[in-house]
Amino acid sequence: MKKIAAATLAALSMSFAWAADADLIVIGSGGAGLSAAITAAQAGKSVIVLEKMAYLGGNTNRSEGGMNAAGTKQQLAHGVTDDSPMRMSLDAQKGGHWLNDPALTLVLAENARHAEEWLLSLGADFCHRMGRGGGQTAARRHGPCDGSPVGVEVMRVLTKAVKDLPKIEIRKQTRATELLMKDGAVVGVKAVGKDGKAYSLEGSAVVLATGGFGNNQKLIEKLRPEYKGFKTTNHPGAMGEGIDLALGAGATLVDMREIQAHPTAVPGKGILISESMRASGSYLVNNEGRRFTNELNPRDVVANAILQQPGKTAWILIDNALVQKNKLAKGYTSADYAVHGNTVEELAAAMKVSPAVLKETMDKYVKAYNEKKDPEFGRPEMITPCNVFPMSAIPVAPAIHHTMGGVRINTHAQVIGTNAKPIPGLYAAGEVTGGVHGGNRIGGNAVADIITFGRIAGQTAADNMK
Ligand code: ADP
Repeated sequence: MKKIAAATLAALSMSFAWAADADLIVIGSGGAGLSAAITAAQAGKSVIVLEKMAYLGGNTNRSEGGMNAAGTKQQLAHGVTDDSPMRMSLDAQKGGHWLNDPALTLVLAENARHAEEWLLSLGADFCHRMGRGGGQTAARRHGPCDGSPVGVEVMRVLTKAVKDLPKIEIRKQTRATELLMKDGAVVGVKAVGKDGKAYSLEGSAVVLATGGFGNNQKLIEKLRPEYKGFKTTNHPGAMGEGIDLALGAGATLVDMREIQAHPTAVPGKGILISESMRASGSYLVNNEGRRFTNELNPRDVVANAILQQPGKTAWILIDNALVQKNKLAKGYTSADYAVHGNTVEELAAAMKVSPAVLKETMDKYVKAYNEKKDPEFGRPEMITPCNVFPMSAIPVAPAIHHTMGGVRINTHAQVIGTNAKPIPGLYAAGEVTGGVHGGNRIGGNAVADIITFGRIAGQTAADNMK
């Protein structure tokens, strides 16, 4: 008798033995997923978050440079009085080659400041950062006051908020494999847990927050053969399974070919050297020691410029003034991929470039800084002369960074089906979605996107359950 019961139980758990209920099931524990979970829990809903990896935070953990937000109190305190959500939206659309869904981009721009305030209310140590990023017409980056990576701070406050909210349960090493449907609506998720067993979860709604596919080399090469052999800055879990989950529920996709190569990653390694270095005064030289571009152009423009240089790589120069005030710069320049010099001659020798050429380049940059004008390349602001020794140089090359395409959503983060209508019960936010960034994402808009649309997804899902 005992034997039969054990066998029956085992057979049951092989298929889908456990039915756990929550109001909302969130797939993915990055910035988008946790923002959705917290927002829904703050609205009184119970939430289960599924995360396939053994750690939380996906690519959000790796986000370094900052969070864009226009019209914040911190900008005003720094004297940035001419920014606005409309301007942020136009920058994003211009940078995205006008491929963006303008309604989504406007929602991003209008709500980013509220998203930033929300993070502050959860305890984020965020300051406004001077210096504009590539393709931006105003200084609107925000992040930890000591220049540390933004993503770590975002995950710190979101995971703390999750712990403080008893209505959220997180299941790590649990992979969502299918969305469960009933009468055309999404009513749950099929998942495989830590123990390798499949089970079903039922909920009133599901938020897809599975991130992008920047580590899925096969898919990237299929969509963009010219990216064959590129390294990636993405975490190992960025495989794009969310796209298949959504397709299984009848979702539509948008802009799948739009894949961003970040201009400055360490060649052969894919380690990101954040755009915030350039925004804070660093600049690029080629393997001959010459500048070749406006470093504050959008990412795709700078990446293409590097690919046209000898050896298809370049160097980013970081001076000691930046290292002294910026933790990220300190980290990069103390890594083994950086070379250093106490003089121009030493630095040139370490970079294997002509000292006379490097000196001429540096003198010209200091002149551009002093005269607030860069006649050669039209860089809109230099921020610093970038000439305080000891100086460091880091080799850089483009690497796959962000996938702009994905699941089509509307401004309420509802997933749009093949009949052009929202699929009941299904919401999506963050890098798994497409349309917000068009053909090229502006640096700093990813964190703005995941928090903004994560909150919208959590709120809409909660509202529609009432
Ligand atoms: P975003 O920036 O959009 O929030 P992230 O990359 O930070 O995206 O987070 C997405 C998370 O979703 C990652 O931690 C990733 O491991 C997780 N994820 C991806 N696919 C699945 C899946 N099928 N089941 C559970 N978690 C998933």
